[in-house]
Formats: sequence, structure tokens, C-alpha cells
Amino acid sequence: MEAYLDNSATTRCTEGVRDIVVRLMMEDYGNPSSQHMKGVTAERYLREAREVLAGTLKVSEKEIFFTSGATESNNWALIGAATANRRSGMHLITTAIEHAAVLEPMRALEEQGFRVTYLPVDAKGHISLRDLEEALCEDTILVSMMYVNNEIGTIEPIAEAGKLIRAHNPRTLFHVDAVQAYGKMEIRPKKLGVDMLSVSAHKIHGPKGCGFLYVNEKVRLRPLLLGGGQQKGMRSGTDNVPGAAGLAQAAKEAYAQLSESTGHLLSLKAQMMDGLRRLSSGGLRIVIHSEEGEKSAPHIVSAAFPGVRSEVLLHALEERGIYVSAGSACTTNKKVPVSGVLKELHLPKELAESTLRFSFSRFTTEEEIDYCLDALGELLPVLTRYTRH
Ligand code: PLP
Repeated sequence: MEAYLDNSATTRCTEGVRDIVVRLMMEDYGNPSSQHMKGVTAERYLREAREVLAGTLKVSEKEIFFTSGATESNNWALIGAATANRRSGMHLITTAIEHAAVLEPMRALEEQGFRVTYLPVDAKGHISLRDLEEALCEDTILVSMMYVNNEIGTIEPIAEAGKLIRAHNPRTLFHVDAVQAYGKMEIRPKKLGVDMLSVSAHKIHGPKGCGFLYVNEKVRLRPLLLGGGQQKGMRSGTDNVPGAAGLAQAAKEAYAQLSESTGHLLSLKAQMMDGLRRLSSGGLRIVIHSEEGEKSAPHIVSAAFPGVRSEVLLHALEERGIYVSAGSACTTNKKVPVSGVLKELHLPKELAESTLRFSFSRFTTEEEIDYCLDALGELLPVLTRYTRH
């Protein structure tokens, strides 16, 4: 049996997504910029995709820009907005537990002379609104905050932060990395006071290498990619029509079954957490980092298994066909033993070094969770004994 419990790293495409991507690569493969019928057909797919995605956020289709994924969306939002608005101020705010696709552009902006405040988080990964309020100053032009943390699933107080930012200065821009939230919850940028929002297709059963950035019409943003002037000159490069249409199809499917999926994910999360608690009361050392309830995403469970290094347990599970992450898959290729996020939670080293992330999708089954829990129950006593000697 296999249990794919690494859906925050990436997901499998649905059949609906596969079908439209294949059709757009093999039949309707025109370039939307071409003037003939094939181009017109491709342009129609692109327009429809933009309409679908705008509909999921209740924004205008003019405010949706396709990108190569959330890394590009985040880079563009931060560098594009900071450089376009630098005359209004040189101060930026973000959190200490953002994805590298936010932290690295922030560091690059620091090198250009911008000042960045990194808001700390509590032991469960929540920022404090008071810290945000104190950090906001006359010079602040942009705040960037993730919606759901990709390693432990914490939901940040986006609506409250949006209100604070507006009240402080309506011209301060608010960017949200919504990669782990989009498709899992209703998101209304206009109600939340969010000016820019990043989304990635491959986290919601869409194709890799495609995403979008929502940009409120009033935002001044510099393009990052210059060239043929596609997407109103804001993002040059031949449009990735299969990617855009695949993303829209994935979003349509995710939002059509949102409440059933959320119920299913919550029940999987409870099953996983109950199972871990049962193993723990049976004598195994397990510390669960993720919370239950409305301040935590339904699809991520992070837990430490003190006494076993996370990569040892990860590979032992892999031998049984169970796929999980140590920290986040997107940053582990740097061979950093302990993730930046876990460090920010001030976990003791032993816990940080033995943490695994289990992440689910609406296609994950109860059997997969049981299979994983059984494997943990068998492997942990052996591996901890082995580690001690
Ligand atoms: N932001 C968050 C919170 C993520 O989890 C990820 C991917 O793991 C990204 C950004 C990067 O997205 P992409 O793979 O589309 O570049």
C-alpha cells in the first residue's frame, strides 16, 4: 500500500486538469498573441481561466495575472511594489516564518536599502497584532504575511491585520502568500483589505510551474519580466495556456466541493492527531506542534518524534510507501538540518530535528492515515532504541 501524505509539497493532478492540459498541448495549442483562429481559441481559454479564478476570489478578471508559480508571484509582488512605491517610504514588514519565496526577495530589497521588520511568532506560529501595530510607521509601504504556514498549518489573522494596516495608512499595501490557503478556504481579498495575493496551481491538484498574482487595480506595481508585453505589459512571456487553464480547472473543482473537502480534511486531521496521542499515551515520545480549531489549517499536522532524526524516520516510512516531509519540501534541498520556521517557534533542538509534516488532500483516505499510524507504531520503538546505542 502507498500513503501520499505530502500534499503541502505538491499534489497529483485531477483527471479534469489532465484532460484540459493535454487538449491545450495537443489540439488547441495556439499562441494567444497570434491573429489567426488558433490564437483566438487559445485567447478564449486564457480569458475563461481568468474569469474562473477571479470568480473564486470575487475580484475583477483584470486583477488576475498569470505567473510561473507562487515563487514568481511573491517576488513580483514584493520587488515590484517596493520599487514602484519607494518614494513613499522605504520600510517593509513581514513575518519571521514566511516561505523562502518571501524571505529571499525581502533580503534582496534590504540590500537595495529598504528596511525590513520581521515579526516574531509565538510557540504555535501566530504573529501578534500588537507587534504589527507597533511596527507600522509612516515609512511603511508594504506588509507581506502568509495566510497559512506551510510547515505547521497555523492560520495568521489576515482580516485583523488588514484592518490594522488600513487604519494606520490606507496607502500601505498588503500582500498575502495564500499558497496553502487557496482552494482550502473562501478568500475575499477585497473584504480582507488584501491588495495582492499569491497562488500556486500545483498545491491544489493543478499543474506545476503555474500560478497567479491577484493585484488590486489601484496598486502601483512594476513588472519584473520585460519583453513582448503580454498581460497588459505587466508580465511578458508567451502565455502558458495549458497551465492557466489547468489551474482554473483545479480551482473550479476545489471550490465546487469546498465544504465536503473541508469536513473530510478536518476528520483526517482529527484521526491523525488522535492516533498520535494514542501512540504517545502508549509510551512513545511524540510532541504535536499543530493546533486544532479555527486558527489552524485542516490539512497539515506537524509533530516531533524525539529520539529519531526526522530524515531517518522519513526514509523508514518511505520504505513502506509512506511519503511525508521533514520541514517543508521546498527548502530541504538546501540541506539545512532544521527549518527556519521551527527555529522561530523556539522549539528545543531535539524536537526541531525530529519533526515531520503530514499533509493531506481531499483525496487522502482514512486507510492511508491508519497505515501511517500503524507504521509509526512499529518503527518508532525500533528506531529510538537504535538511535540511543
Ligand atoms: N509559498 C508557500 C507558503 C509555499 O508553501 C510554497 C511552496 O511550497 C511557495 C510559496 C512556492 O510556490 P511555487 O512552488 O509555486 O513556486
